[in-house]
Amino acid sequence: MHDDTHDADRDASRPERADGGTAVGAPDGAAPSSSGDESSDPVVGDAVSDAAGPTGKPVLELENVVKRYGSETAVSGLDLTVREGELVTLLGPSGCGKTTTLRMIAGLETPSDGTISVAGDVVAGDGAATPPEERDVGLVFQEFALFPHLTVAENIAFGLDDPDSETADDRVADLLDLVGLGDYGDRSVTDLSGGQRQRVALARSLAPEPDVLLLDEPFSNLDVSLRVRMREEVKRILDETGVTAVSVTHDQEEALSISDRVAVVNDGTVEQVGDPGEVFEHPTSRFVASFLGQASFLPARVGERQIETTVGSYDSDLLKGLGDGYVGSHVDVLVRPDDLRATPVADGDADGEVVRRQYTGPSFVYHVKLNDGTVLRCLHNHTEEFDVGEPVAVTLVADHALAWYPAE
Ligand code: ATP
Repeated sequence: MHDDTHDADRDASRPERADGGTAVGAPDGAAPSSSGDESSDPVVGDAVSDAAGPTGKPVLELENVVKRYGSETAVSGLDLTVREGELVTLLGPSGCGKTTTLRMIAGLETPSDGTISVAGDVVAGDGAATPPEERDVGLVFQEFALFPHLTVAENIAFGLDDPDSETADDRVADLLDLVGLGDYGDRSVTDLSGGQRQRVALARSLAPEPDVLLLDEPFSNLDVSLRVRMREEVKRILDETGVTAVSVTHDQEEALSISDRVAVVNDGTVEQVGDPGEVFEHPTSRFVASFLGQASFLPARVGERQIETTVGSYDSDLLKGLGDGYVGSHVDVLVRPDDLRATPVADGDADGEVVRRQYTGPSFVYHVKLNDGTVLRCLHNHTEEFDVGEPVAVTLVADHALAWYPAE
């Protein structure tokens, strides 16, 4: 694995390129070869993509954080910097260490190694072990964890130093307005819908004005349609308060839609961090590419000006940041369904055949098995119906630069 991926946040101060993008090219130190048997190091480009991220001061910093449970390592050297006012989402498969990381930030778990700093103060590691209640960190739990015997207003006031004061009343009233529950202060929380309970939980965590707000799978207890509405609403509330927040999810759509930056976690470490578009379109590893959306890898040989693939030749400018040093090399190009189209053709002209069709309502995704065994997915309007078994030609229609990886 390319080391820089783990250093992503430490490099957040790197200068941006003049075009505002992230420098992408061959992995540092990975000499291109023309033999076609390049290292299987799956990283292309630069793992840092803070170009579009906030430039505020760091509020939360995790440095080389490790958490071991006996022989099990849940978090294995995780680095992350979250800047003032941004929402960073930890996204990754089940068991990759997201919740453990959140619990260490909150002070509910102690790191085995590394340091955690909040607002410039080390709260864990380096001899520090600040208890949860002394960290300015709020936590919104998956199940909201409201007190059923208290009213909405009393729940919100709970975390305030002097909940019975006039100042507290004013603060609660402001928060009720902020979360759209201005008229609900005297209600019992047991009478509320799931979405309303979540608003109360959020208001309660925001009440003491934490330096950092942590959200643990905040939408997982809501039904699908409410989830989409609530994530927009929560994002609005976070933006309005300007709070710095870290959220955890394994829902890629949620992460991509509400986050300022997404940190993709794999096996207890951050594999890539960047703004949602950068991470989705230019994943620096095959893992990130495959975890975010449907990914296929199209083998290609790099020529002087063109790349040769089994579905035709294309301008080599199509590959993001491909340097001259790669001429003669074999690479795998990341292609997503919207980058490809299939056209029914006579058997002799076909690149492969449709082996599966996925109907999604507005569109079909056709899985095409090429003659060399590679399977590509092609996105089509729902009116373009092909049968499984149909011979097709495949065309690369992407109008944006594509990520690529040295061939395995
Ligand atoms: P999910 O999305 O399923 O919640 P996650 O990414 O949040 O997963 P964690 O809950 O952080 O993953 O767990 C990471 C690893 O650490 C898992 O293998 C888990 O079994 C292990 N683990 C977590 N807590 C403990 C514990 N208290 N004791 C032992 N092992 C633990």
